[in-house]
Amino acid sequence: MATYTPMIQQYLSIKAEYPDAFLFFRLGDFYEMFFEDAEVASRELEITLTGRDGGVEERIPMCGVPYHSAESYINRLIEKGYKVAMCEQVEDPKTAKGVVKREVIRVITPGTVMEGKVLEQRGNNYLVSVAYDAVLDSFGLSVSDVSTGEFYGTEITRNFEDVIMELSQYHPSEVLIEEDIYQQHIHLLQQVNATYTVWKENIKLEQLNQIVSEHFPHLEPISKSILISAGNLLSYLHKTQHKRFVHFNEFRIYDTNQYMVLDTFTRRNLELTQTSRDQSKKGSLLWLLDQTETAMGSRLLRRWLDKPLLSVHRIEERLSGVEALYNNLILAEDLSDQLKQVYDLERIISKVSYGNATPKDLYLLRKSLERVPAIIQIVIESEADPLKKIVKDFDLVQDVSSLIEKSIVDDPPISLKDGGVIKRGFHQKLDQYYIASTEGKQWLQDLEFREREETGIKSLKVGFNKVFGYYIEVTRSNLSQVPDRYIRKQTLANAERYITEELKEKESQILEADEKMLDLEYQVFIEIRDAVSKQTQRLQQLAQKIAYLDVLLSFAKVSLKYSYVRPTFNQLGHITIKKGRHPVIEAVQKGHPYIPNDVILNQHQEQILLITGPNMAGKSTYMRQIAITVIMAQIGCFVPAESADLSMIDRIFTRIGAGDDLTSGQSTFMVEMTETKQAITQATSNSLILLDEIGRGTSTYDGMALAQAVIEYIHEHVNAKTLFSTHYHELTSLADRFPRIQNVHVNVIEKDGKVVFLHKIEKGKADRSYGIHVAELAGMPKEVIKNAKKILEDLEAQSKRAQESENDLVQLELFEIEPKMKASKKSIDPSLNEKIALYEKVMTQIDS
Ligand code: ADP
Repeated sequence: MATYTPMIQQYLSIKAEYPDAFLFFRLGDFYEMFFEDAEVASRELEITLTGRDGGVEERIPMCGVPYHSAESYINRLIEKGYKVAMCEQVEDPKTAKGVVKREVIRVITPGTVMEGKVLEQRGNNYLVSVAYDAVLDSFGLSVSDVSTGEFYGTEITRNFEDVIMELSQYHPSEVLIEEDIYQQHIHLLQQVNATYTVWKENIKLEQLNQIVSEHFPHLEPISKSILISAGNLLSYLHKTQHKRFVHFNEFRIYDTNQYMVLDTFTRRNLELTQTSRDQSKKGSLLWLLDQTETAMGSRLLRRWLDKPLLSVHRIEERLSGVEALYNNLILAEDLSDQLKQVYDLERIISKVSYGNATPKDLYLLRKSLERVPAIIQIVIESEADPLKKIVKDFDLVQDVSSLIEKSIVDDPPISLKDGGVIKRGFHQKLDQYYIASTEGKQWLQDLEFREREETGIKSLKVGFNKVFGYYIEVTRSNLSQVPDRYIRKQTLANAERYITEELKEKESQILEADEKMLDLEYQVFIEIRDAVSKQTQRLQQLAQKIAYLDVLLSFAKVSLKYSYVRPTFNQLGHITIKKGRHPVIEAVQKGHPYIPNDVILNQHQEQILLITGPNMAGKSTYMRQIAITVIMAQIGCFVPAESADLSMIDRIFTRIGAGDDLTSGQSTFMVEMTETKQAITQATSNSLILLDEIGRGTSTYDGMALAQAVIEYIHEHVNAKTLFSTHYHELTSLADRFPRIQNVHVNVIEKDGKVVFLHKIEKGKADRSYGIHVAELAGMPKEVIKNAKKILEDLEAQSKRAQESENDLVQLELFEIEPKMKASKKSIDPSLNEKIALYEKVMTQIDS
């Protein structure tokens, strides 16, 4: 290191403190990066990699970005999950002795950005901290969004898979985690796509407690694991942002048992917030339901969808609100019109208290607050009791809007730099400067007029530039008329610029007034911003209520559009859905209508439904639509059906589709078995299990045996409501042996020798030969079809014979002729097994 130049040495010592961030090292008008940072950044940002002499033989790799356009480069790095440490010159280079002093003033990380594209407008940007309390064997999670001011905490005393489940709900952009937990669970953590920051504040518990209670003085006692996670999170924010966050006003501790549990696979399978095909919001349930007018409403809806409720009371409360809007179209439209004009209050408030809100932000805050009285009035006049209850104790925060109205001009500039932000009449001193400045400008105009008269130069102009200040400009052709008292200041190509004694004197007065005005204006603005910032909590509460109304309104709009109904709930464990639909397929499927289907599930005869039918008939759609209906009901939305009487579902398990879990590197079959195991070991009698073609990933007998054993286990030990689709037709006979298993099938008919899917669920099992017709439809070579038909006929004949001979055996058994039975069993055609295997092979080809 000794051989490096002093500046590079300085760079290296600062960089050593921020090994996991790009160090943006300020050098004049550029931020430069060196060594490996430069190599990686030049690739990621597609900027030229150069080199610089640094005192050693080899040139040091270097690349840089201009400081005035740095933001877009920083954003690009953050979007890619990197961190950026901003290292500034903290003394004036002109007066510095030796190398200019530099310091990191802020570290920007994916979980701590306050603005820019990284913040998806209608989404949250969560930073989560995970801690472990070894004594109680429990994990603490603290979750914050610095851009909206949210702060949540929960404790998980079960296994790490549950931590993953909770984590994945938040789609965090950054996760703070202790080194050993990270190392131990690295495999599972890969399921959650985030920037992981290994972080632990090495301070005593009391100190962590102090940090937490400084932020949340009214916090009820919390568990040690939550405390550690929250303390770590707050100290991380402090270290990276170099300032204290004041806008986390409420630390909301929740119990994961208050909500329906939906694991990552289930969320993905049901396409709740994104499609499984291309991970886009479009085509997901969220996309369908999100008709919110405000960004905070949109974020709240997303949170509801991530956490369906288990409390009938809370669900009914939401449903009543939705119903009130559903039944009153004019009310819904009026409210919509008002909410449209409400800006992202949560983000504006966060910026206000973070100290980077612009005049424009305050103006938008005022515009939004001005909508609130109208919103309340509309609701009160509507006489809709459930909504009136929500707005009853609305704090309008009108003191803030009138403060902004009095002080900030309409439509102010985004930046404070050039002034023009504060209204006249708001601040006396400022007004005086303003008068001085305008008077000065008037004086300049008068001067121009006077000088023209006196010199007779008609084109004489008074102007201003930053370097020379005010001047009198005379074009070349008029130079002969310039009087002696003019002092030359600057020569241009076709003009000369002058000043006079008088102008020089006045200039300093005018400039001083302008400068003072700008300074004071800045100060006054900061005072106003600070005053608003003191109302953060009230504003946040208002924002939350508006978001709540907005989501109810969104549900009502979607429910009206697609004719959904209000679900009812029973305590008996019954699910009875009449004419249920899959809301998203119904909405996007053009050309042919969605075929509604009924479902009856209960603890008695209809606990497990075995669904058979050819591929593409609609089995998995049917299963999904039931799960989605249950979720929609439990978030407080109407449901796509003619009627729905539901019981509270505590957890939904799904194993649908063979989507490989590429990240974990497990085989599809292994994933299938893991998910099935999770379902049958963790489900309660209030859970819903959806299993699609279990056992498909292994050999026929193996798979069928497993599928059957799983169904029997659920029947005997789990008692969860279960839908099980299968192409093992042999399994349909289970319905004869187990009282709570029923067969249903998806109907298909044959028309002109072709199979037509009716997508209609009916009682009983499917006719297995439709598989061959589907194959025909798919254009399978005629020879295969012919052969399959022949094999099927043979098989059916043989199976009939075998059945007869089994029957004979039973008869014989009655006469206790044991030896004969054994002999007879062996005498079944030995080629049968081979034929079954061949048949299954053809069927698998068809299926896939
Ligand atoms: P399976 O699971 O039986 O192979 P899917 O459930 O994947 O079949 O359904 C195949 C396609 O059939 C779906 O993508 C959808 O377009 C259509 N479909 C399914 N159910 C219905 C229905 N009830 N009404 C209309 N179309 C449906």
